Amino acid sequence: MVNFTVDEIRAMMDKKRNIRNMSVIAHVDHGKSTLTDSLVSKAGIIAGARAGETRFTDTRKDEQDRCITIKSTAISMFFELEEKDLVFITNADQREKSEKGFLINLIDSPGHVDFSSEVTAALRVTDGALVVVDCVSGVCVQTETVLRQAIAERIKPILFMNKMDRALLELQLEAEELYQTFQRIVENVNVIIATYNDDGGPMGEVRVDPSKGSVGFGSGLHGWAFTLKQFSEMYADKFKIDLVKLMNRLWGENFFNAKTKKWAKQKDNDNKRSFCMYVLDPIYKVFDAIMNFKKEEIDGLLKKIGVTIKHEDADKDGKALLKVVMRSWLPAGEALLQMIAIHLPSPVVAQKYRMEMLYEGPHDDEAAIGIKSCDPEAPLMMYVSKMVPTSDKGRFYAFGRVFSGKVVTGQKARIMGPNFTPGKKEDLYEKTIQRTILMMGRYVEAIEDVPCGNICGLVGVDQFLVKTGTITTFKNAHNMKVMKFSVSPVVR
Ligand code: GDP
Repeated sequence: MVNFTVDEIRAMMDKKRNIRNMSVIAHVDHGKSTLTDSLVSKAGIIAGARAGETRFTDTRKDEQDRCITIKSTAISMFFELEEKDLVFITNADQREKSEKGFLINLIDSPGHVDFSSEVTAALRVTDGALVVVDCVSGVCVQTETVLRQAIAERIKPILFMNKMDRALLELQLEAEELYQTFQRIVENVNVIIATYNDDGGPMGEVRVDPSKGSVGFGSGLHGWAFTLKQFSEMYADKFKIDLVKLMNRLWGENFFNAKTKKWAKQKDNDNKRSFCMYVLDPIYKVFDAIMNFKKEEIDGLLKKIGVTIKHEDADKDGKALLKVVMRSWLPAGEALLQMIAIHLPSPVVAQKYRMEMLYEGPHDDEAAIGIKSCDPEAPLMMYVSKMVPTSDKGRFYAFGRVFSGKVVTGQKARIMGPNFTPGKKEDLYEKTIQRTILMMGRYVEAIEDVPCGNICGLVGVDQFLVKTGTITTFKNAHNMKVMKFSVSPVVR
């Protein structure tokens, strides 16, 4: 838990290139909630100064409460990339110069795809999605549905292969079989992406690729995860090749001959697939030694992977020890948050290509230009994606994202419901924004203003909006696009 003052959080909101607005999407039961918890518990959760004293003292209770709050709005995390990792961000609009800290807003999207429009509304305030697939079940119906919706909204995906512990412990898959399973899932996901994303379209390359580090593997339940970046770092010294090149070699039809010490593109008797040899084998060895109580091997292995067991864990064995070791070796939060910071777009990058999907008005009016350039000085354009109940019965906060300008407490604005049409008065209210608030988990606090690229809540708008709507200071603004069932759920 990292406690920040409202002023510190407000300062982060100005560093728009270091913001990531994302959600986790998955087929039911593939482990979305479990993974979210494991992510949140590793990251610095942003809470206000006062919250730390009273509300987050009991960690167990905290965890229970967290589940509830994540489901209600969003949870904000602070994550710092190390200097060496910054080179992976090549686009200048993906990070502020000399700034390593990232504000990651994890926004909840409803799990029920039957409420397709609500999923779309939730996705709309994000720019990226972590797609979780249970590697034992593979890509399922809802994986396809939500992924399709995400792509339609121009949301960039990254992939996580979950429940790897099951593949090893229950199914006891051989390394090569597991590689084939992963490979198939990557392919299935990329087929869906390619079908719904125009090739060479405005989003650029959105297919996921393990060798680029946009695919993670692991177990949300046991709290461990990795991308090929983590494994490349382990071997970079040994092979003395560039990290990026090594990542490429650790996936696909790349083999290594341990005798001749040569890389090959073909498998023959002495060649072994590099992914199996350098990624899966070390993991299998740890699993095997611990689960089969090979005590004499464990110490050597732990030394090799640089894990020391804490005093309080010394008596553990079997699954309990395995969890401790894997978590310490490959902490899930670190791998996932790196993947998010490096591969998901900032609002500056995303709003450029998302504007035309988001805005109903002419693509060259002030609102459109403000959204496209993520300009805090442009007129306000905020999209309200949902109404969140307050502790006051019957009253709601309007939750949403600022896409252009700033939303300011006490500012006069136009509140436009879904039935508003330009030039008409229907579903249009000119009111004062009573209060702008931070909504971070259970934490709600007044904030003077919120600039574009960020999410926030508003007080006093609930009398005018039922579910979704647009809030603006631009007199000629059109609506942010109204929810339609543009992508209907598949029934099979
Ligand atoms: P959701 O419906 O996608 O949110 O899935 P949940 O997070 O509720 O998980 C569904 C079930 O899968 C629960 O019983 C979890 O304990 C289990 N689960 C989630 N992640 C893992 C994992 O990494 N490994 C294993 N073995 N089980 C998992």
